[in-house]
Amino acid sequence: MFLKSRLKSIELQILNSLNNRMILSEKEKLHFQNLKKGYIGELSFDSLTKQLLTNNCIILNGLTLKLNNSTFQIDSLFIMSDTIFLFEIKNYEGDYYFSNNDFYTNSNIKILNPLNQLSRAETLLLRLLQDFGFSIPINAKVIFVNPEFTLYEAPRDLPIIFPTQINHLFKKINNKHSKIVEKHQFIADKLLSLHIEDAQYTNLPTFKYEQLRKGITCYSCDSFLISVEGHKCICMKCGHAETVSSAVMRSVNEFKLLFPEEKITSSRILEWCQVIESKKRIQRVLDKNFKKVGNYRWTFFE
Ligand SMILES: [Zn+2]
Repeated sequence: MFLKSRLKSIELQILNSLNNRMILSEKEKLHFQNLKKGYIGELSFDSLTKQLLTNNCIILNGLTLKLNNSTFQIDSLFIMSDTIFLFEIKNYEGDYYFSNNDFYTNSNIKILNPLNQLSRAETLLLRLLQDFGFSIPINAKVIFVNPEFTLYEAPRDLPIIFPTQINHLFKKINNKHSKIVEKHQFIADKLLSLHIEDAQYTNLPTFKYEQLRKGITCYSCDSFLISVEGHKCICMKCGHAETVSSAVMRSVNEFKLLFPEEKITSSRILEWCQVIESKKRIQRVLDKNFKKVGNYRWTFFE
């Protein structure tokens, strides 16, 4: 059972929006692409889980936890009666090799070692569980989900599941005897209560409202080529249609994500959306979806 489903991280949402609205540096762009690729990999693991997992367990996806001053992330956690599976999911693509306990790309560039990430998360999770008063073994694995990934010279005893082994992993999990009782629910609830939604992101570029491109972007393809026709916003690039109200609300939420301190006013949102013809129309959408705080010219909403 899925107790916590995966959400796009705030960092990825912000970078996605900034990538549409300003020119990112090569380094920022690369960071954004990597985050996006990682997220796609996690989603593909989630869909395999839905397809292949038949046993009783509690699934927590995309947890950010903190123990003392150490923050750590867990991509996927399966709580079963006598084991907790901890998965670090990687969407690496292409040829890599393993040498002296490190990972290298085909062009000899050393990359962040996912096994170190895994063992850090495992150690911290184990300590958290001990703090709750439980000792339940953790089975931790790095899962490479991309079918086009190869790791040369990897020893056989590494805690790694390769794309060709994922089916077998689920078979093994399904064959375990597992009965979820109160204790497991307690562990899951406790971990959920410690989940941090808004972690601090140090890798975000600095940006100002003035420098960002304004306009509603297409829900489906991110294009700015939106035309308003009656109650619909139509994307001239991909044809995706969305109600004006939903497109405006999506834009308001994007504005709130980028500028959490700013007040939502109809003039601001009119400027932010560009394509909506009147302030009145924006006002109607805001009225429906937000609580009015004041009644002045600069009416704001929360
Ligand atoms: Zn589109």
